[in-house]
Amino acid sequence: MTRKGYMGKILMVDLSKGTIEEEVLPDSVYEKYLGGMGLGAYVLYNRIPKGADPLGPDNMLGFLPGLLTGTGSLFTGRWMVVGKSPLTGTWGDANCGGTFSPEIKRCGYDGIFVKGISPKPVYLYIDDRVKELRDAADVWGMDAVETEEYLEKNAKKTGKKPKVACIGPAGEKVSLISGISTNKGRMAARSGLGAVMGSKRLKAVVLSGNKRIEAYNKEEMKKISQVCDFWSRIQPPFVTGPMTAFVGALMRILPTVLTQDGLLYKIMLKKWGTVAMNQMSPEMGDSPIKNWKGSSKDWGFMKSYSSNPDVFTKCETVKFHCYSCPVGCGGICTMEGKYTHTHKPEYETVLSLGGLCMNDDVDAIFYLNEVLNRAGMDTISAGHAVAFAIECFEEGVITKNDTDGLELTWGNSDAIVKLIEKMVKREGFGHVLADGVKQAVVRIGRNSETYAVHAGGQEPAMHDSRNDPGFALHYSVEATPGRHTLGSHLYYEMYQLWKVVKGIPKLPPMYLKGSKYKNSEKQAKIGAANSRYMTLVNATGACLFGSFIGARRFRLFDWMNAATGWNLTPNQYMDLAGDIHTLKQAFNVKHGIEPMELKISDRALGRPVQSEGANKGRTIEIEEMMAHYWEEFGWDQATGKPGREAMDRITVGA
Ligand code: SF4
Repeated sequence: MTRKGYMGKILMVDLSKGTIEEEVLPDSVYEKYLGGMGLGAYVLYNRIPKGADPLGPDNMLGFLPGLLTGTGSLFTGRWMVVGKSPLTGTWGDANCGGTFSPEIKRCGYDGIFVKGISPKPVYLYIDDRVKELRDAADVWGMDAVETEEYLEKNAKKTGKKPKVACIGPAGEKVSLISGISTNKGRMAARSGLGAVMGSKRLKAVVLSGNKRIEAYNKEEMKKISQVCDFWSRIQPPFVTGPMTAFVGALMRILPTVLTQDGLLYKIMLKKWGTVAMNQMSPEMGDSPIKNWKGSSKDWGFMKSYSSNPDVFTKCETVKFHCYSCPVGCGGICTMEGKYTHTHKPEYETVLSLGGLCMNDDVDAIFYLNEVLNRAGMDTISAGHAVAFAIECFEEGVITKNDTDGLELTWGNSDAIVKLIEKMVKREGFGHVLADGVKQAVVRIGRNSETYAVHAGGQEPAMHDSRNDPGFALHYSVEATPGRHTLGSHLYYEMYQLWKVVKGIPKLPPMYLKGSKYKNSEKQAKIGAANSRYMTLVNATGACLFGSFIGARRFRLFDWMNAATGWNLTPNQYMDLAGDIHTLKQAFNVKHGIEPMELKISDRALGRPVQSEGANKGRTIEIEEMMAHYWEEFGWDQATGKPGREAMDRITVGA
């Protein structure tokens, strides 16, 4: 019988033995774990032995498209890489767009899993006839862009242009903040999974398939996609780049908040990409400034102006769309005399290397974006490591003797550039920071912990948890800590999930800003719904930004039914997602993680409280929220460990 939506098979590669084997999975696995991150959780929970070294042969790395990828749905061309994170020791995953995801399915698989360690550098090559490990001696040492160009050119001799996911020098050097790159600069950056690939001496995965991806009800898929496409195309004129700062300031000043319709964000995203937030976010208190110690007062209009959104669209020569995306928030930029073809930096990158380090030199940010993308290093974590080092320097914890003579003062862009160049090469003081903030604390010692902001080792993103308690919660409670893509109060507003899912909190059209910080029980229910929904987004290969346009316009549940022929209600899908969520938490417990220890650093919770700026006077009562959140999933309120009933719902023993 033809499978619908999914391909029904995974590929298992053992690099130690040099073997490649297909495995057929029963339908029941897909009916329970769906695909993407859900399928990854099912395989990794069962097959990575307890206590496995993340950089050892027992760790597995999985490359997964989504259940919906290639089925005719929109915004569903993202792929996941999953594995035990060497950065946090927890469940690890990273998400990336581009065009790699459907190619996994076109090769016939719902996931490609790799274990073992190769005796020499190799890359995995798959097309319709060939599956083999090839010698990577020629590309080992090349940066991510060079690697992709070389492998594309080489494989062309045998057929169509392949899709490549690879590591750069940072992954080869097993930097714990390295990621995996596709499309010459799109990065699955988080959780340090580039280091896992480097530790396995796997330089790249190169795919070129032609298999058909079927949907159960193509007509229905088309109808649902037309609705989504209609809303995605709505694009009224909007303010200029610098005017976004005033919108942000207004949001800071007003005591009330309009529950946000995500269509507004979509309009900004389509016009500018994520850099739309470069000025708005600092003004409203969403961007952490000066290593989370500063505030909107330190990064006012004059400071943020150099990176106003229009600066980025002016040099954008063409929009970059991930597969099946009608918005295209990415862009390829050319700056005369500097760059001819570089990915537009993301908001996260601009603020990590900008406001977090008090650096308003936008040329340096463009340059470092390219350096880090080519090296395959996470820009968010790199920015945090630098900001941490600057504060240590300013506070006298380290001196020029430690920094190879660099004058690490706030906003010193020359020193920041030199330091990041050292980090990607693991040279001198760069080595101290090349594995992220938590490892840097171990290497520096001397009370430097005071200035480190992370959750279980993962540097959080550029969304201030004091401004949105939802970020504080998800940074602290997720199996993959410190992640901004898993939920926030604002995201919940934009999903408008209560319009299709029964029994979850409904938000009024307008509310008092202070109410977000009260009623931890309601906040936990919102958080649990966020986690469940994002589990579905990540299981289907969907884009978070697509989901922002609202559940009645971005009809994820209906797409899943039409693609597979299943007939589940939104609540039934949310229940399945809850079980996948439990499986990831159980993965952590199996590997000896104490969930409470993943809580984000005090500074990000308003401890001590800020005395000025947008987040003045705010403290997040995180412990209470965490307890209520864990209860929502049937996990122990005090420890966060899944209870017997929750565990019984998980099928184990694959
Ligand atoms: S909105 Fe942006 S990130 Fe999302 S799928 Fe489209 S191009 Fe990719």
